[in-house]
Amino acid sequence: MFRAPASVIRLLESIRCNFFWGGSGVWRKLTWVRWEKKLLPYGSSGLDIGLLNAKNLALLGKWWWRFKSSQNSLWSKVITSVYGSDRGLGSSNISLSPGCSSTWAHIIKAGSKIDDMGISFISSFSKELGDDSTINFWTDIWVGTTTLREKFGRLYALDMDKPATLENRVLIAGNAITFNWEWARDLRGRALEEFVALSSSISGIQLRSDSTDRMKWSLNSDGVFTAKKLKSLIEEKSIHGGNNVIGTIMNRVVPQKISIFVWRAKQKRIPVRFELDKRGMDLDSVLCPFCGGGIENVDHILSNFRLTSEVWKGFLRWWSILADNITVLDPLLSDPIFNSATIVGKSIWEAVKWVCCYTIWKGRNNKVFKGKEWNSTNIVSEIQSTSYGWISSRVKKLNIEWHQWMQNPRYYVLSNIIGVG
Ligand SMILES: [Zn+2]
Repeated sequence: MFRAPASVIRLLESIRCNFFWGGSGVWRKLTWVRWEKKLLPYGSSGLDIGLLNAKNLALLGKWWWRFKSSQNSLWSKVITSVYGSDRGLGSSNISLSPGCSSTWAHIIKAGSKIDDMGISFISSFSKELGDDSTINFWTDIWVGTTTLREKFGRLYALDMDKPATLENRVLIAGNAITFNWEWARDLRGRALEEFVALSSSISGIQLRSDSTDRMKWSLNSDGVFTAKKLKSLIEEKSIHGGNNVIGTIMNRVVPQKISIFVWRAKQKRIPVRFELDKRGMDLDSVLCPFCGGGIENVDHILSNFRLTSEVWKGFLRWWSILADNITVLDPLLSDPIFNSATIVGKSIWEAVKWVCCYTIWKGRNNKVFKGKEWNSTNIVSEIQSTSYGWISSRVKKLNIEWHQWMQNPRYYVLSNIIGVG
């Protein structure tokens, strides 16, 4: 129910990192990518937000809905008595008093965090009018898209009955609606102008006579809040948001760790010896742990050196692609071979290449840390089986049997039998 404290999220992240790196302790100490920087600004560049924070924020968002939609309940009244009529959930300029309980502060802050991601969450709640209205005249959104307090600040300042609900304020006699006002002084100048504008914007209000007010949530088409919908909006923003570079490399056909690995490799941020050395780590050698004949950098280990290129050759044979293409096929870049494939087909092709990179890297680590001998044939088999497992469970309409996957995966990806999964 609370936003998980940063320390907990950090712990979870580090567990994921360790898993990702195969648990070798020394790398944990190196800041390859400043995780915090990547993860904390929930919107712009946080890749991992999707799984940890989105759910968390969405559950906190649910409290906004609860408070806003059941203002007569006891707990809502308690909060109101402590934090004032809008309970800090005003439409803008949320300020927290120092004594604010941390629970409630988390809930309030979650609202602005979600807003910061580019989702208009705080202003997404509005009320449909009922005749026994508990709508707060100034601080609820009930006409237009902002509160009247925001729009008519001078009048609000002069109002002697700021907590007034619509019920208090509106008098209905037959078809005529009049308003109760009590001002601190006579209205003149700008305040009077505001009053004229206010009167015209509320003169046409319709009060429903059949029921009480109903809270509406504008981010869902049926007007009802769900944490699931909010979570998906947050994920959408964080994983595929705008010009987010990471969003464009996410490939949902394979587990997230694969996308992360490739993303890091593209930025030369995987712990090959050359990069470790550059970051000031004291190493016996920066040479390749296999051949010793070249510096171990990202390109060397993932595509250039002899054993790696054996894997790529086997991989390309499996995909019926001429082995010569190895020279033009940068494993980390997209390539035109599958231009005519469907989006899903392309994603699968890309995913399989990524799995190849990832598996090569795993093989490298097995050699360096566990002394396991490199075996190109085994590595290709592993690529075939793990990619099949991942892809067949994630792409719903992929009807490829294991033996077909082994024999001619290219045919199935290029033929349009694979619809959008
Ligand atoms: Zn080498």
